[in-house]
Amino acid sequence: LEKIDILLPRSTATTVRLLNKETGQLELVACRQIGEEEWRLAVEQRRGGLSATVLKNKAPLIIDNVQTDSRVRDPEFFREHGLASYLGVPLIAKDEVLGVLCFFTKEEYPFSDEEVKFLSMLAGQLALSIHNSQLYEQTKKQTVELDKANKVKAEFLTIISHELRTPLGVIMQYSSMLQDGMLGKNNPKQQRASEQIMNQSKELLSMVNSILDATRIEAGGVKIERQAVNLGTFLNDFRLAYDVPLHKDLTLEWNYPSDLPVIQTDAGKLRHIFQNLISNAIKFTEKGKVTLSAQYSPKTETVKFKVEDTGVGIPKEALPIIFEKFRQLDSSLTRSHGGVGLGLFIVKRITELLGGKIEVDSEPGKGSTFSITLPTGETTSLTH
Ligand code: ADP
Repeated sequence: LEKIDILLPRSTATTVRLLNKETGQLELVACRQIGEEEWRLAVEQRRGGLSATVLKNKAPLIIDNVQTDSRVRDPEFFREHGLASYLGVPLIAKDEVLGVLCFFTKEEYPFSDEEVKFLSMLAGQLALSIHNSQLYEQTKKQTVELDKANKVKAEFLTIISHELRTPLGVIMQYSSMLQDGMLGKNNPKQQRASEQIMNQSKELLSMVNSILDATRIEAGGVKIERQAVNLGTFLNDFRLAYDVPLHKDLTLEWNYPSDLPVIQTDAGKLRHIFQNLISNAIKFTEKGKVTLSAQYSPKTETVKFKVEDTGVGIPKEALPIIFEKFRQLDSSLTRSHGGVGLGLFIVKRITELLGGKIEVDSEPGKGSTFSITLPTGETTSLTH
């Protein structure tokens, strides 16, 4: 308004009024050369007769003398304030009227066509800035609301998961006692039933743990604890846990050299990554093999791990979404396979926390390969 003032006769009062979309009212947001408080009061009482017309017609309106013109509802007000001529131009951005820019002169003033054109153009520029700032405010508000909703959701998931774990623990204890015959000898049917209870409880526990892990990761609550990890020893130990026959026509192969380096990483998190990838590979492969391999590249100071399977594979278009939360591809297939669709989300986030990256390569019907590339860290030394 200050800038506009320079362009107009000296005794001009200006106001900016914006439409409140919720109430449908024109609200005074700025004024110059007019006492803001009394103007606001007057505007509220009069409900903006002239500006409402500008708003409705989406066109400039000129009144030569607001004290005598019959279209003016409250000439007394203008007489009191010594205002004579009026020009109102709509603030239009993207075909939407946001409000009205008004000019009042103390003495009768004939606004020329050029002036009206020029001020309308100026109002257009102003409207665009207002539109952008309103959008910005709206986005900011939405972000805050989204943040709040996310926090509530995370809290909800954490509480639910914790609450589920306690009774689940009790179920597992009892079913383990049943299985071991501690509550009496089982007949074969009872034995099979107690095994089922145990297996399904383990599956449920792993789902609950995934939800807890994913919420913790999202809340930034997962800390990386780096230590020197001898990869050779690490993989040998890890392999022991998997040296059990699978209930499928499937072999598990290990393919890594004996001179893998010592790297700076978080062994627990690395184990978590491999467990998830191998369990997926086994889950989605009926026959053939699942291979875990590791390769050190001194040039790039990285280690590349691969979990390769000869299973169902993943269609090309689905590759980008499998790392998203709660994403599972064929629901009929995954239903029979269990899981909540959080495994790969967790794996990707943990890999990134470790400073690495994950890639996937797959062909439907042939199999999938998940590759993890990790930096070796500063204090790398080779073991021989
Ligand atoms: P979940 O295994 O709990 O369903 P994940 O996040 O681990 O969730 O995997 C998401 C989806 O990606 C799976 O439901 C499956 O459709 C697909 N997927 C993951 N790993 C493999 C794999 N090795 N072979 C084929 N499909 C896979």
